[in-house]
Amino acid sequence: MEGDRLVATRPIYAGKLLSKVAWAKEPWVATLRPNVFRPAEAQPGRTAAVERPSPSAPAAIMKFVERREDVSTGLPELAEAETVVSGGRGMKGPENYVILEDLARVIGAAVGASRAAVDAGWRPHRFQIGQTGRTISPKLYLGFGVSGAIQHLAGMRTSKVIVAVNKDPEAPIFKVADYGIVADLFEVVPALTAEFKKLLEK
Ligand SMILES: Cc1cc2nc3c(=O)[nH]c(=O)nc-3n(C[C@H](O)[C@H](O)[C@H](O)COP(=O)(O)OP(=O)(O)OC[C@H]3O[C@@H](n4cnc5c(N)ncnc54)[C@H](O)[C@@H]3O)c2cc1C
Repeated sequence: MEGDRLVATRPIYAGKLLSKVAWAKEPWVATLRPNVFRPAEAQPGRTAAVERPSPSAPAAIMKFVERREDVSTGLPELAEAETVVSGGRGMKGPENYVILEDLARVIGAAVGASRAAVDAGWRPHRFQIGQTGRTISPKLYLGFGVSGAIQHLAGMRTSKVIVAVNKDPEAPIFKVADYGIVADLFEVVPALTAEFKKLLEK
């Protein structure tokens, strides 16, 4: 709150700039990206009424039928996952995503992809991270064979910790990465999976 106004900060131009916006009219309505804020801790003595409005006009033409979880991969939903493993063109082909899925299963991560991988038909579009895909803010993002184009960064640069594995030391993703490994992902992924398995079994 700034005085009695609600002011929000939102990314524009694919995350290159942040703009501050306020509402011209009431009621103020805002939507939040998943994982951007931690749930507020309950504070003793402070309560707030939660109103659940039921908009009448759309309800007349829309009906909630059922919510279906995507069970095709058995992995967490991309936008909600605390850890995301992402594969780009460096994965070389759709058949190689099994090594990312193996790693993801061990650490409880979702598997995402770059647009190059999606355009090549290696992964369905719902797994695309970036400007024309999903925006994610996980605690940990691990990118394998992703160069870090600005349009990809637009969808994941707010991740809390970014790890990049790329055999090109000049890859732009290293500019935003907290940890970088210059190596062949086909050596690193199985080694990480084995190491995490050992650690988590302890
Ligand atoms: C309007 C517009 C919207 C776009 N929207 C999106 C979007 O939403 N999301 C998105 O991702 N992109 C988007 N793009 C595309 C974007 O510009 C890039 O082309 C794309 O992100 C590149 O994908 P990539 O990093 O997988 O492939 P590349 O740029 O080809 O990078 C592949 C990387 O893999 C590395 N590599 C290769 N083999 C190995 C190996 N064995 N081990 C380790 N590393 C290896 C290479 O060194 C390279 O850095 C958009 C583009 C436009 C113009």
